[in-house]
Parts: sequence; structure tokens; C-alpha cells
Amino acid sequence: MSLELNTLPAAFWTVMAAVLGAMLGSFTGVVVYRLPRMVLQEAELNLAFPASHCPSCGENLHWWHNLPVISYALLRGRCGFCQAPIGRVNLFMELALALIWAGFVAALGPSGQALVWAGFFSVLLVLLVIDWQTMLLPDALTLPLMWAGLLLATVGATQLSLGLAVWGAAGGYMVLWLVAEVFKRARGVDGMGGGDLKLMAALGAWLGAWALLPLVLFSSLLHVLLALAMGRRDQPAPFGPALVAAAVLVWACREQAWMRVLMGL
Ligand SMILES: [Zn+2]
Repeated sequence: MSLELNTLPAAFWTVMAAVLGAMLGSFTGVVVYRLPRMVLQEAELNLAFPASHCPSCGENLHWWHNLPVISYALLRGRCGFCQAPIGRVNLFMELALALIWAGFVAALGPSGQALVWAGFFSVLLVLLVIDWQTMLLPDALTLPLMWAGLLLATVGATQLSLGLAVWGAAGGYMVLWLVAEVFKRARGVDGMGGGDLKLMAALGAWLGAWALLPLVLFSSLLHVLLALAMGRRDQPAPFGPALVAAAVLVWACREQAWMRVLMGL
């Protein structure tokens, strides 16, 4: 290749990352809608079948109805056939992933590190939205995320020794199981599902065993705040969004002195 990566301006790579993020966001919009329905076996569908169609009129979408962000703007948020309003979740995922990918490439350059961490936080956002909407954290996402964290640790891509990643995964599962048991005894309700434990194992695999204490502390605190904000007494607040928010906080502040104290480093 005659064209060196670093001869192209950073702005070019940031824009490319935003476009890639928006395209991935378009796909994750499908995942967010279909994966919980596949888990619950509500309908005959998978990620590729049936083709994208309007849930109102059932008309198959043309390719120009499927362009991330652009189609939503051109169609003014309505189906091109029947004018029914299009759900905002797709647009949210497209914009959010464009921002995540552009942000990591702007901060870390067009590098393997940007790819690894943008990928990690993209999957976490998908899990957050699914848990928020359906109270589910599908194994099809949490388990591969955990394995990916362990495998990446073997080549040092998460700046973590394999030992810390393995202990993070196993310890994360056990610690949250313990927290869930204590909650159950104290309040007589099941506050957490198995998906929360598997997500915590994945976070441990990516962020390491030292991150477990701050992850438990912040996710518990954020979960209480979330439950208060939602004010739903009949239905418990999902724990996944609190775990994801705690992971963002721990990753963003991992070099800060106060965070290193919490990590015991
Ligand atoms: Zn329609």
C-alpha cells in the first residue's frame, strides 16, 4: 500500500469512523428489536429474515429507506409508503454509534485500540437498550463479549494480563451473585437476573479483577438512583443500564488517583 495511514488527516478517519458507526448503528437497531423476540420466540424471525419492512403496512423497504440517519431525515421520520411514524430507537442507535466510533478514533487514532474499545462500548450500548426495553440481557451478546475479553487479554489488546481478565470474569460473576443473594435475603425480592451476572463477568474480563469493587459500588448506587427516577414500584428497574454506566465511569476514570484507590492499586 503506497498510502500510509498516518499521512491522511485525523479528520478523515474521524468522519470515516462516524459513517462506519452509523452503519453499525443501523444494524444494531435490528438487533435491539429482533434479538429479544428471538429469545422469547415471539415470532418467526432472525437477524436476516424477514427483510426490513414497515411494521405498520408490511411493505418491504427499498435500500434508500435504509440509509442510516439520512433516510430518517429525508422521510421526515415517516414510512415512505403509509406515512406511519418510524420508531426513534433506530435513529438513536445510528447517532449514538456514530458518536462512539468517531469519538474513539478521534481520541486514539485509527488504531486497533480504537476498534477494540469502540466495539466493546457498542455492544454495551446494545445490551443497555435491550435491557431497558425488555428486562433481558441475551446470552447471545453477554457470553461472546466475555470470551472476546478473555481472548483479547491473551494478546494484550485490553492492556490486561490474562490472569486479571480470568479473575475479573469469574470474580465478577461470583461477586454479583453474592450481592444478589444479600438483596434477596434483605428485601425478599429477586433484584437481579442471570443476565446481570453474565454481563458482570464480561465487564470483569474486559476491565480486570481490580475494577470489580468500583463496578459493584457504582452500579449499585446508579441502580438505586435509576429506580428512584423511574418511580415504578410494581416493576423493578433493570440492572443492566446501571452496570453499563458503571463500566463507562470506571473505564473513563481508570487513570484517576481516586479510582486507583478504589481499585486497590
Ligand atoms: Zn408503512
